[in-house]
Amino acid sequence: SGPLLTVENLAKHYPLGAGFLKKPFAVVRAVEDVSFSVDAGETLCIVGESGCGKSTVARLLMRLVDPTAGRVLIDGTDIAGLRNHELRAWRRRMQMVFQDPYSSLNPRLTAGQIITEPIENFERLSSKQRNALAADLLQKVGMAPEMMHRLPSELSGGQRQRLGIARALSLKPSLIIADEPVSALDVSVQAQILNLLLDLQQEMGIAFVFISHDLGVVEHIAHRVAVMYLGRIVELAPCDALFAKPVHPYTEALIAAAPVPDPMRIRLEVPLQGEVPSPINPPSGCAFHPRCPIAVDRCRIEVPPLVPMPDGRFVACHVRAPGTGIQSQVDTIAN
Ligand code: SF4
Ligand code: MG
Repeated sequence: SGPLLTVENLAKHYPLGAGFLKKPFAVVRAVEDVSFSVDAGETLCIVGESGCGKSTVARLLMRLVDPTAGRVLIDGTDIAGLRNHELRAWRRRMQMVFQDPYSSLNPRLTAGQIITEPIENFERLSSKQRNALAADLLQKVGMAPEMMHRLPSELSGGQRQRLGIARALSLKPSLIIADEPVSALDVSVQAQILNLLLDLQQEMGIAFVFISHDLGVVEHIAHRVAVMYLGRIVELAPCDALFAKPVHPYTEALIAAAPVPDPMRIRLEVPLQGEVPSPINPPSGCAFHPRCPIAVDRCRIEVPPLVPMPDGRFVACHVRAPGTGIQSQVDTIAN
């Protein structure tokens, strides 16, 4: 069987200054030509600096916003073409965990009501059934059943995020989209939540698309990693390979800039210079060229395509993707 989730050439452009001006004066290319797949039970991390489009990808996957172009397929079926009952069935399979466990939980509902709410969109539960289900889900996320009577305001940040996860689990999804689910939490609590997600994946075979800016978190939980820069994937690789040997200059710089928990790991001497440019007016060609230490003339003109490397990873770089780009140009001239 094919991948659980397939994303093909996904794009999201936002017009700026639309409305009474009739014509937008600019277009924000938040996501451009993004393709990847996720297998059942796999964790794909999408990593990048803030503003790189990773949260927009999450919203596109959940169909909270419509894409400008491209397709999202679940088990080979395009979700854009789904009709009511199919859409409901699909919504059961794909759930989201949000960054902020404070604003994403209804403050007037008890923990028990919050985590059984998704299921009650599909079926009526007696209060006995609701309590049994809530107790079971709370136990799954490491909380005492009595917590079902608490309000979100009576819970810690970590407990609230456990609640968010319990709610996502209630419909037994095949895939959870998690957008920075631990970045609002203390470091000690972060590890507990990440380990909970790993345990749940083992136990229930859930796949994750996990959005994060934190390479330490990514290294801990990813099977594969997609690195995004200004709306595009610049490198897509197995987690071990990416951290052992980043190929794209941006990945290299990101890893070099991250705190090194392992003193045995060699720190690469590539400083990440400059700020992330605005997605409203991104640099021409490879958007990374103003910050890239190895840029060549071509980088200012042509967008490098994401191409497969011999080791199975994908890289979008004119200089570092052999067999394509400059290398193939040289080959053409030589022939
Ligand atoms: Fe640097 Fe050019 Fe590669 Fe972009 S395409 S990362 S500018 S070398
Ligand atoms: Mg974000």
